[in-house]
Amino acid sequence: MTAYLVLARKWRPAFFSEVVGQDHVTVTLRKAFEKDRLAHAYLFSGPRGCGKTTTARLLAKVINCEVPKDGEPCNTCASCLAVNAGTHLDMIEIDGASNRGIDEIRDLREKIGYAPSQSRSKIYIIDEVHMLTPQAFNALLKTLEEPPQHVYLVFATTEPHKVPATILSRCQRFNFKRLELSELQGQLERICTAEKIEHDEDAILMICRRADGSMRDAESLLDQCIAASDGRIDIPTVRRVLGLVDTHVVAGLLDAVSRRDRRAALEIVDGVVSAGLDLEEFFIAFLEGIRDLAVISISGGEADWLDLTSEETATLSEIAGRFTVEDLLFLFRSMSRALREFRAASRPRYHLEAAVAEAASWESAVEVSELLRLIGQEGTTGAGTPGAGTPGAGTPGDGGGSTAGGGPAPVSGGSADSRRTGRGSGASASGKETAEQGRAKAASSAERRAARTETGTTAASAGDTAASAGATIPGEQTSPGDGCAGGQKKAYPDSPVLERLGGREQWERFLAQVRESKLTLGIWLMAGEPSAIEGERLILSFTSQSRFAHEMIRDERNKRLIETHLERFYGRKFVVETCEAVSIPASGPAEGPEKEAFEAARRSSRPAAAQVPEDAPVLRELIEELGGEIEPPGGTT
Ligand SMILES: [Zn+2]
Repeated sequence: MTAYLVLARKWRPAFFSEVVGQDHVTVTLRKAFEKDRLAHAYLFSGPRGCGKTTTARLLAKVINCEVPKDGEPCNTCASCLAVNAGTHLDMIEIDGASNRGIDEIRDLREKIGYAPSQSRSKIYIIDEVHMLTPQAFNALLKTLEEPPQHVYLVFATTEPHKVPATILSRCQRFNFKRLELSELQGQLERICTAEKIEHDEDAILMICRRADGSMRDAESLLDQCIAASDGRIDIPTVRRVLGLVDTHVVAGLLDAVSRRDRRAALEIVDGVVSAGLDLEEFFIAFLEGIRDLAVISISGGEADWLDLTSEETATLSEIAGRFTVEDLLFLFRSMSRALREFRAASRPRYHLEAAVAEAASWESAVEVSELLRLIGQEGTTGAGTPGAGTPGAGTPGDGGGSTAGGGPAPVSGGSADSRRTGRGSGASASGKETAEQGRAKAASSAERRAARTETGTTAASAGDTAASAGATIPGEQTSPGDGCAGGQKKAYPDSPVLERLGGREQWERFLAQVRESKLTLGIWLMAGEPSAIEGERLILSFTSQSRFAHEMIRDERNKRLIETHLERFYGRKFVVETCEAVSIPASGPAEGPEKEAFEAARRSSRPAAAQVPEDAPVLRELIEELGGEIEPPGGTT
């Protein structure tokens, strides 16, 4: 039985004309050879697997060929056969990467002057020449300065910038290009046809895509697929060989994420783990899926740079319809970050699960901004109602605001409902429940916000007197009982933090200015609340319902942008930090051990704690201790 000859060797080009995709090099070399104008030193640079060494060997072959024709070797003479067999004594290959070439180069210097043993000329091929040590380069340079007539040197490198300029300047340089997908495809098709290998075109395309411009990789992957196939190379075979996850699995996960079905998402991960598939490949496929959804969402599925079958496009288009482009971009960013963490994790499976569960808990950017818009409208109409706003502004705590504050609740609740039925109709019970809870929380935070907005709007309408009402807060702080009685719907005075920022009205003006310069940034910022000022640090707290906005504001670039706005508006320097606020009905102790200062500050931005001056640490500590009791009831727990 004859040993199986790997395709890359069997199909190694025997002529210059067979080298794929590097005509600009091979044609020039052939002409130079024909005109007897070959240089004595060449540098071949280019990505791996694109034909540098192959071309160097062809050059060696043609130089020593006994009957070359049209600048091509004959492939039949003794010299050609010896080169093809790798036994030619005058073709010396040195690998710069192994032991970095010191001994070889020394050897080269000693022997380079000797006459060739087998043919007319000696050809040295030095692979990965950039790996040579400086000493080896120095030795090489002496040879390059006066190369003997019978010697040719060919250097190959993937990193020409690491080759010393003194060497580069003495070589004729050729840049090999990365192979096109179609070039790889053409070659593999040729091989398959000649070898009578049954194959699907899509499967070959998949191999070529993975080869990423390298013919060597493409041929080697084809070899592996031939070995793994049952007579025909099809997509499942290639997937198996490449460790790729079936697109249906990825589509299933994207579907589960779109429906916020965390359970289904985790079950899919479990299936992938059980099947022994590569988790990183799966994670990458998931990320690519999100990217595809975003591209479909933006292009309407028309993008021709999507490498998808029409069936896949149809499935993904349906899923993409459940997201906005912003949602998908946000998902992509958060999953990219999760992938980095995954790669560094000691138990990657857990990180994958956490990431997938997080993805399936996405919150729509549009819902948040829509909600804010709705609240804005409600706030304006509410302020117009006499009696509702005025008492709230004058004597915050008398319960006047509670009636008005109830206004927006049905509106936002209703719209959230309709949206839920529209989007999550296919959701499982658990997914629905989560969505519902989320919406309910969002609605209640909407109420609180509306109440606050009203205070601000009323103050504005009442003019300077109302603005000065904000300054009389210390006096009002002596009636803590009232603040609690009103519950969260009540209008309440500015927190000490807001006070230090010139009051709610001033803060709103600042927000408006940010919105004017960058709308999305302003909208995200609106979801937060200044909760503490510590020296230069301004801490903005976000409720867990505003995760998206929080995520966006947490972005360093956005933080810097806000700081610039703050400095311009308030005339002083702030360093923006963010934290997550405890959700409103605090049942028992606060979740998560956050910094005490943050906690206190957070409380201070809420009705009951608004009465505690920021510079009363003892009192703050007390509230910290007794937090559960002092806090407003805020509804059922
Ligand atoms: Zn020959």
